[in-house]
Amino acid sequence: MNRILLVTGGSRGIGAACCRQAAAAGWDVAVNYARDAAAADAVAADVRALGRRAITVQADVADEAQVLAMFARVDAELGPLAGLVNNAGVVDMPARVDEMSLARLKRMFDTNILGSVVCAREAVRRMSTRHRGRGGAIVNLSSAAARLGSPAQYVDYAASKGAIDTFTLGLAREVAAEGIRVNAVRPGIIDTGIHASGGQPERAKDLAPQVPMKRAGSADEVAAAVLWLLSDAASYTTGTVIDVTGGR
Ligand code: NAP
Repeated sequence: MNRILLVTGGSRGIGAACCRQAAAAGWDVAVNYARDAAAADAVAADVRALGRRAITVQADVADEAQVLAMFARVDAELGPLAGLVNNAGVVDMPARVDEMSLARLKRMFDTNILGSVVCAREAVRRMSTRHRGRGGAIVNLSSAAARLGSPAQYVDYAASKGAIDTFTLGLAREVAAEGIRVNAVRPGIIDTGIHASGGQPERAKDLAPQVPMKRAGSADEVAAAVLWLLSDAASYTTGTVIDVTGGR
């Protein structure tokens, strides 16, 4: 029987790579996206070409009602969830903390923290043996920014990812005896469109010389770690965070 996976922000970048690698590993995939339906459709087509079922689900993870509707669609159209990749996340323009508006901070924390926590809550409600579920795995996308702080870039983003690290540890221990493993991946500088959305389209290229491996990483290199954490090969691994940073 195929296992069913929900990837938030699955239409581009790291999330899209996770969807494709998950299909190759035998998962059926729900591809969540916020705005770009065509991009999500293309990822779903790739999943189907690999012989797996796929649906696309529009939902802003920062909106609880939309998250609830998204999980209901996965239940109805694919079946019992066995995995969640909490990948949807946003950055913002470079700024100092003393320049940040409350609206910016709310968007950042609502999307990156509350979005991941509410999606994890819904996954636990479905997968925990405490709720008659069959167990499963959750992988959260953190960032090396959680360790580095991102001064004069986006300290708010770094702090949101620090919260993800702590949430990963706490939730992992809370549900460890209920058949659910919870882990995180901390990517470094990865070549995706996220940098353009923060007003720095050349960021991955510009920062590559600062990386010990002297290059940016690819979405596929991050997805490989995510897929390992989702897999049975990681059956005794929970509450951990894997750096995928080229040594940064
Ligand atoms: P990306 O290329 O910007 O893609 C972001 C994805 O998230 C898109 O599919 C987007 O959908 C979706 N999304 C954005 N806001 C959303 C919302 N409110 N609700 C639902 N979906 C939403 O990002 P990425 O570089 O692949 O990053 C993925 C994750 O890795 C993020 O959590 C990020 O913080 C983390 N990360 C990335 C890097 C890096 O260097 N790239 C480094 C460290 C950590 P639409 O296109 O439809 O808007």
